[in-house]
Amino acid sequence: MSISSRWKQIHHKIQSHVPYREIRTIAVSKYHPEDKIKEAYQLGLRNFGESYIQEAVAKIEALKSLDDISWHFIGPIQSNKTRQIANHFDWVQSVSREKIAIKLSQYRPSDKPPLNVLVQVNVSGDPAKSGANFEQAEILALKISNLHQLCFRGIMCIPALYDNQNELEQDFNKMKSFYDHLKSRFKHVDTLSMGMSNDYVLALEQGSNMIRIGTALFGKRY
Ligand SMILES: *Cc1c(COP(=O)(O)O)cnc(C)c1O
Repeated sequence: MSISSRWKQIHHKIQSHVPYREIRTIAVSKYHPEDKIKEAYQLGLRNFGESYIQEAVAKIEALKSLDDISWHFIGPIQSNKTRQIANHFDWVQSVSREKIAIKLSQYRPSDKPPLNVLVQVNVSGDPAKSGANFEQAEILALKISNLHQLCFRGIMCIPALYDNQNELEQDFNKMKSFYDHLKSRFKHVDTLSMGMSNDYVLALEQGSNMIRIGTALFGKRY
């Protein structure tokens, strides 16, 4: 199936489940070549997600001529990669440590707008997954909101792989409550990033306003 017909289906599902809410779709282009990104761009997609810095920087450089793209870093962050992330991306969705936040702010060039930051929450409490717990996330949110070259915009999660849809729904629900709380406390919070190819409809029903779609849009990653 073409990217175009895949996107039509996804778009239709979004429209039919949450017709009155504005949803941003991040096209997760990791492992996919530049011409697929161009194809998605032609369909009107403007937000792209990447997880590996070397691969991402090469694509960002190669696609510089495409206007008003926003690049989102969504992968694990090592401290020696913070300079490149701060230089090349518009958003970072996977911040869960203060040390990383401080470096991203330090390295963010002063001629660029502040880097948009989401705190990654380990909502399922899975020890194998990265992310902060709710308590840590709130402390980190306060730190980030005091860093001048960062703008704290909200939270992101990658839930555990459950057999049971109820557990997933509960996790999404916890995220939504925490998001509402942060929204009342921090001025620029407007983003709840949850939902991927297999669960974005459920995530949208539970209050997500940003979904990250790889496989359902671009096909399998090799
Ligand atoms: C790869 C990835 C996605 C996309 O996953 P799909 O299941 O292919 O839609 C979304 N979010 C993050 C953080 C990812 O690493």
